[in-house]
Amino acid sequence: MLDWSETTAATPLPTPLALKSQPAIDQTGLGVIDRAGGRVSVDHKRMINCRADVNQLLPLKYRWAWEKYLAGCNNHWMPTEVSMQADIALWKSRDGLTEDERRAIKRNLGFFAASESLVANNIVLAIYRHLTNPECRQYLLRQSFEEAVHTHTFQYIVESLGLDEGELFNMYREVPSITDKAAWALQHTQHLEDPDFRTGTPEADQAFLRDLVAFYVIFEGMWFYTGFAQILSLGRRNKMVGIAEQYQYILRDESIHLNFGIDVINQIKIENPHLWTKAFQEEIRAMIRIAAELEAAYGRDTMPRGFLGLNAALCETYMHFIANRRCAQLGLSRVFDETENPFPWMSEAMDLKKEKNFFETRVIEYQNGGALDWG
Ligand code: FE
Ligand code: MN
Repeated sequence: MLDWSETTAATPLPTPLALKSQPAIDQTGLGVIDRAGGRVSVDHKRMINCRADVNQLLPLKYRWAWEKYLAGCNNHWMPTEVSMQADIALWKSRDGLTEDERRAIKRNLGFFAASESLVANNIVLAIYRHLTNPECRQYLLRQSFEEAVHTHTFQYIVESLGLDEGELFNMYREVPSITDKAAWALQHTQHLEDPDFRTGTPEADQAFLRDLVAFYVIFEGMWFYTGFAQILSLGRRNKMVGIAEQYQYILRDESIHLNFGIDVINQIKIENPHLWTKAFQEEIRAMIRIAAELEAAYGRDTMPRGFLGLNAALCETYMHFIANRRCAQLGLSRVFDETENPFPWMSEAMDLKKEKNFFETRVIEYQNGGALDWG
């Protein structure tokens, strides 16, 4: 029963005067309009805990965020533009693929299918709310759409190959080596999506940084990379070439997502040096080390015997190489012994623009203003 008695009014609502003397930070941009608010200057803009209006994109402060938004738009693609004919023929053939290859492909697809949604949900429900900068949010809106395109890719693959959709999409809850990775990342976003979570204390701001590291640096920047290496290695041997092409486009998107995440973390560090303590740096290094171990376990599970050009040991070495690189990008010392990149062709695959211009190899035309039919 609702209690309408006077006692519930014991805590008075803040008066307009009280609000004026102590303005609450409107981090969402959906608060009451400050009619007396002055024009925003770049000096007022901040990555987190910003007091300036978050609804004003201009003037730009973080040009790198805007540049990434433009780069993302230039990379537009749709999974349905890639022909799946060769993949369908190979998948349905009796002896085109070994059982080991089929197992690795299915687990790889299963890992990505749900992970794209986990990443998207983290951006929209946790990160977006606490990143108080309009140009970064502009990029997050673009990234969210790209994650939808990536999820669409797995729907398209399932449909094309006639795979069991329940088996694939539920794999992150059924296959322990996949569940372990997802569960590890999720613990860092769970309290951020709590409606009562607020940045503004060193503890909360560090929790926000941990989420950024878990999803941008580890999920998208480490685990996705071994996943790409698996499929692209098959593609190099002319197997599942349609999926391999789609993965190249996803990789091109993901390399911008990763670099955006790195820039966000480094900019927050610059603006809030008190957060980046020695102890906190060690904590981040430990996160990266544990994530690499989880990936090694996943590699052993998906490739128990290995196949031509690819096995769990090579993937683990690649993960060590990538982990050290991510540390360097964050200004941290490396976590593993220095190692050569066992998949040097991965860096070429990432530089897709050099190899092939998507729009030159396709006849697809996106509907633009001139193509609209007003009749
Ligand atoms: Fe993605
Ligand atoms: Mn992504």
